[in-house]
Amino acid sequence: MNDRFAFTIDGVEVQGRPGQTIMQAADEAGIYIPRLCSHKELAPHGSCRVCTVLVNGRPQTACTQPAGPGIIVENSSEALLAIRCNLIEMLFIEGNHFCMFCEKSGNCELQALAYRFGIMAPKYPYLFPTRELDASHPDIFIDRNRCILCGRCVRASRDLDGKNVFQFVGRGPRKRIAVNAKTALADTDAARADKAVSACPVGAILRKRVGYGIPIGQRMYDAAPIGSDIEAARAHPHK
Ligand code: SF4
Repeated sequence: MNDRFAFTIDGVEVQGRPGQTIMQAADEAGIYIPRLCSHKELAPHGSCRVCTVLVNGRPQTACTQPAGPGIIVENSSEALLAIRCNLIEMLFIEGNHFCMFCEKSGNCELQALAYRFGIMAPKYPYLFPTRELDASHPDIFIDRNRCILCGRCVRASRDLDGKNVFQFVGRGPRKRIAVNAKTALADTDAARADKAVSACPVGAILRKRVGYGIPIGQRMYDAAPIGSDIEAARAHPHK
């Protein structure tokens, strides 16, 4: 039985399947919807709001909103672009992101989105918060200066690693990522191979002793803008 249904994204007809989110259907169709807290292996969270689209004129997060027959999705209007740029700029000013000194540079999804959107310098003043580092673990390093509170590490540790190493504590500007130990990361069962480590979209959780193994300039988003892999599926549908 063909249970597929049609809807449109920016006027392009897309086929969806029951149970799919708008983002999943868009990915299959080779249409990139920008995202940060979303990760293919993790349950959708809808917290970063970068994937906000208009569905029949109403703002919805594409990572959580189910696709449905006949819906009209807007993904790339000037107004949506402005919302996404504002969100990304606010993430930059809320933390301490010094890309030129960060081992994640070139592989960082936040940096890559800023490049994709042509953000040169945020229009808001930097907050320069004081944030803690945790270098206690022999294999893993946490730099909360770069954390964007996306919750990927929390979901990956819980749902993929089966460990619950990470969790949020505090509220508002005091919200931060914490570890499941009285002291520090070294006292948890976090391990180098944990999916929670690789799920971090920025340089807030890093593996030790791999720094600059791949030179800056030869990294993932140095080669092609973020989202190019998804868009390539549309350009070459039979690859
Ligand atoms: S440490 Fe990384 S994965 Fe975890 S919430 Fe912060 S940015 Fe997201």
